Amino acid sequence: MDEEVEVLVDLLTDVLGDPKNHYESKAQISFDCPVCANEKGLDKGDGKGNLEINYSKHVYKCWVCGESEGTQGPLGRLFDKHGTKEQKKVYNLIKPEELKVQEAKKTQLKLPEGYTQFKDSNPRFIPHAEAYRYLISRGITDEIIEKYQIGYTVSGEFAYRVIVPSFDKNNRLNYFIARSWVPNKMKYKNPTAAKDEIIFNESRIDWFKDVYLVEGAFDGFFLDNSIAMLGKKMSSLLFETLYENALGKIIICLDEDAWEDAFKLYHELNGGRLYNKIRVIKPPKDMDVADLRGQIDEYYYEIK
Ligand SMILES: [Zn+2]
Repeated sequence: MDEEVEVLVDLLTDVLGDPKNHYESKAQISFDCPVCANEKGLDKGDGKGNLEINYSKHVYKCWVCGESEGTQGPLGRLFDKHGTKEQKKVYNLIKPEELKVQEAKKTQLKLPEGYTQFKDSNPRFIPHAEAYRYLISRGITDEIIEKYQIGYTVSGEFAYRVIVPSFDKNNRLNYFIARSWVPNKMKYKNPTAAKDEIIFNESRIDWFKDVYLVEGAFDGFFLDNSIAMLGKKMSSLLFETLYENALGKIIICLDEDAWEDAFKLYHELNGGRLYNKIRVIKPPKDMDVADLRGQIDEYYYEIK
């Protein structure tokens, strides 16, 4: 037996008792299910060996109560439910690196350390004043700051950045933008959540109204009912979400230098139930979305 497998089998034996069957070629090992045994009022195993573990995939399942009792899932959960904290720690040490990455992605995102909204901080605090000045220079008003819960932080890994939180349709934080206001810093630093797995501020979208598609979160502040794609391309999640939900028109409004991407987006969206509901804005050179406020209707481009 491989040394790592041996450690894992020993650990599992500590938690579940002696193994029943072990098929090394399939990386499968079975034990008595503690949940089944408990149901039968037994404090030891029921002798059935219904709980099966695949240790190459790091998953477990009881063939009897897996579905009904939730006795299944990633192996880490088995240690959470049936092991001790110490056993979980040992398991975390032998768990493969790629599984750790996947699990980290799934945990609920938190706002960065030190996130403070402007209304809750002292305007005479120098970082507050600097961050605020930066926002004003980008055309962002007090009303926008309040509406989008824009804040800033001076501590942790996102220190000296303006923070724009994003909430999903259930109003749960799903992303945030961290934009440096200090010129010599890397402009953006993103959370670990994958941006193509979220819809930025979906919580704010009224699907009965026209929806604007813009590139960045800062563009989105200037167009009501807009979705920031966080780039020039549409994720497949965004495509599916638009296709299923949009009841009004979809108006593509990318930066002037992204005309080809806008054109491509138009053709990707203009089909099926969205046919004839897509419009494109072509901003003039050197104008960004902030400059188009109030006059966007003048820049529709007719695609034939
Ligand atoms: Zn069971």
